[in-house]
Amino acid sequence: MNRTELLDRLSDPSESWDIVIIGGGATGLGIAVDAASRGYRTALLEQADFAESTSSKSTKLVHGGVRYLRGGEVGLVRESLRERGRLLRNAPGLVRPLSFVVPAYRWYERFFYGSGLTLYDLMAGQLGIRSTGHLSKSETISEIPNLRDEGLFGGTLYWDGQFDDSRLAVAMARTAVDHGAAVVNHTRVEELVKENGKVTGVAARDEIDGREFRLKSRVVINATGVFTDSVREMDLGKGADPIIAPSQGIHIVLDKKFLGGETGIMIPNTDDGRVLFAIPWHNRTLLGTTDTGGVPVELNPRPLGEEVDYLIDHAGRYFSEKPTHADVRATFAGLRPLVKPGGKTGDTSKISRSHHLAVSESGLVTMAGGKWTTYRQMAEDAVDRAIEVGGLETQPCCTADLTLLGAEANPVDSKGELLDPDLPYTKSDVDRAVSEEMAVTLPDLLCRRTRAMFLDVEAAKRIAPSVVKQMAGRGGNSAAWEKEQLANLEKVLPTYSPPVSQSPSLVASEGS
Ligand SMILES: Cc1cc2nc3c(=O)[nH]c(=O)nc-3n(C[C@H](O)[C@H](O)[C@H](O)COP(=O)(O)OP(=O)(O)OC[C@H]3O[C@@H](n4cnc5c(N)ncnc54)[C@H](O)[C@@H]3O)c2cc1C
Repeated sequence: MNRTELLDRLSDPSESWDIVIIGGGATGLGIAVDAASRGYRTALLEQADFAESTSSKSTKLVHGGVRYLRGGEVGLVRESLRERGRLLRNAPGLVRPLSFVVPAYRWYERFFYGSGLTLYDLMAGQLGIRSTGHLSKSETISEIPNLRDEGLFGGTLYWDGQFDDSRLAVAMARTAVDHGAAVVNHTRVEELVKENGKVTGVAARDEIDGREFRLKSRVVINATGVFTDSVREMDLGKGADPIIAPSQGIHIVLDKKFLGGETGIMIPNTDDGRVLFAIPWHNRTLLGTTDTGGVPVELNPRPLGEEVDYLIDHAGRYFSEKPTHADVRATFAGLRPLVKPGGKTGDTSKISRSHHLAVSESGLVTMAGGKWTTYRQMAEDAVDRAIEVGGLETQPCCTADLTLLGAEANPVDSKGELLDPDLPYTKSDVDRAVSEEMAVTLPDLLCRRTRAMFLDVEAAKRIAPSVVKQMAGRGGNSAAWEKEQLANLEKVLPTYSPPVSQSPSLVASEGS
């Protein structure tokens, strides 16, 4: 993906587009893949990096959502299970089956959860992974060696999907470009262009060099997640009724030893009625999540101290070796773009995770809500509607069996000398990210092309000076650029840093 060439296409005033997409998270990138693979002239503009907002900060599950079954959302679970099966097939290097144990500390729980999860398997039909089964106490402990065994009766083992969210986003961007789309990061849509009350394009700004340009398009799609209302305001004017109720969810990242194996834990009902996951991910244990409403909309929100306390406290109830704050290697916080039912906010954990598609009087198509797992179906629905709105010649959707480029295998498994003993990355990962994956800034590279900041903040900070030098070498950038990038990384540290971080400033460590 050559950003300069793609930007030149976008800013060429003689070009006109069938579909312009605002937002390069799961939703927007999914729409770009769908539209481009149907043959439409497609452009996507992302104000920050691909997946920088919510789409890099998920629990990394491609799942039907066991808890939605409890809430009676059968349609959503069935759709998600179908999409889970397709993603396992279409991105096998980035999405994999993962076993989970639901531990039983009450005698009836094995049977209660066993029957619910068997129903979950049945709903997946032909696209199921493997069958749910009962585990004895010793079998449960052998799956999760660090599980608290006091009071344990046994467990239920079931299968779901796990993925690397920002790597999948990059694969989607590459696939869209391969099908002819112009997809760029760090380019912000500032305004909707209208003629006779109808949206006919967008005005945008390249956030890297400040270049401003306009795009003409038959249809414009708002796929901006928690930022949906800011684009609706561009359409309807300031004070337009908000439809998004953002809800924050955080994760903490611990050493692998806290699970001790390759099976995750799902606690379907904590004391306060939440779902908790502990998941093996890139040789670490990922623990989450929370559901905190009433938070401001930000690109890189910060975990709250009480959210971290909640996760550490709950992990301590289920692990024999209990984690403490000192064990937290990284944190990350994301905002769910929940669509308010009938304009009411209420308890965000009760708002449905199904998606919302709307067309305004000016013809702006908005796709919001949903889940990573269902991005492909959301994209199909959005493009079907865009065809009607823009009067485009109908072409059938072909993504159900489309293998995503670069997702056949995980490229970030490369051999060679590690940049740091605590991280699985080498110099060739840096080179590839810059030359093929549109990594423009240091945070692009350390947060989303590699997952260094998600796995170990201190290790990511250690490699930052040499990585930025390597990036500058490839891109022909100056020493001032390197310093600016270290300052950029410093700005996003609060999202990823465990609440009390004693480490020195990055910029100061550069000797400035
Ligand atoms: C804590 C948490 C855990 C989750 N776990 C899971 C999970 O395990 N499995 C699952 O299936 N789902 C999960 N989800 C849900 C899933 O992550 C989201 O539904 C999905 O990532 C939303 O994607 P999106 O593209 O709609 O939004 P975003 O990822 O927020 O993307 C919107 C993009 O629009 C861009 N943008 C905004 N304004 C402009 C503008 N003016 N110009 C250009 N670009 C703009 C933003 O920069 C942003 O990148 C989770 C969500 C959270 C918060």
